[in-house]
Amino acid sequence: MTEWREALERFLATDPRDVGCDEVMAVLHLYVELQAAGVDAAAQYPGVASHLAACDACGEDARGLLAAVQNEDPQHHRHEHNEEMVAMTEKLRGVQAEDGAAVSAADIPKAVTAGRLLYADGASQIFTIDGRTTYSERGGDSAGEWYVDDDGRFCSFWPPSYRACYALRWLVEGSRIVGLRFTGLADGVTFEGRYA
Ligand SMILES: [Zn+2]
Repeated sequence: MTEWREALERFLATDPRDVGCDEVMAVLHLYVELQAAGVDAAAQYPGVASHLAACDACGEDARGLLAAVQNEDPQHHRHEHNEEMVAMTEKLRGVQAEDGAAVSAADIPKAVTAGRLLYADGASQIFTIDGRTTYSERGGDSAGEWYVDDDGRFCSFWPPSYRACYALRWLVEGSRIVGLRFTGLADGVTFEGRYA
């Protein structure tokens, strides 16, 4: 994730007063990790700090995430993330999306963490803002990682060595975002995940 952190830092540095919800969500986990480490995050990300002060939704997510980061107990961590996801689903209401439109790189973190995704075969998957993902099927759970690569593509990694990148498109019914379409960039296979 280092590469997109650097890209975002460059971006934020160019326009500190005009940071929107998307940019804040993309760097929020880094921001609160700095805070939790006792670093003056507001000095490093003045645009994020002023946005958090002005935007109730992002401010609330920041407080929830900070609490999660400060509480390193894994069970509490998971609990905090579940609460966070409820708030994130609300947030998708502000996203402009047409059915089949590509999810922009800036929207990917919001899109994948907005809720548990259910797949047609009965499997489900949860993505958390800290870059972790859990895929659950009848046989059990698999733990992996997700990230946005240098080209703004959504990718996932499953230990020990399986890595795959996908084109991500919105799944919209009526005026509601109901899920995401993933198309494997290597195999061209498309599948849908619907928010639970
Ligand atoms: Zn906001």
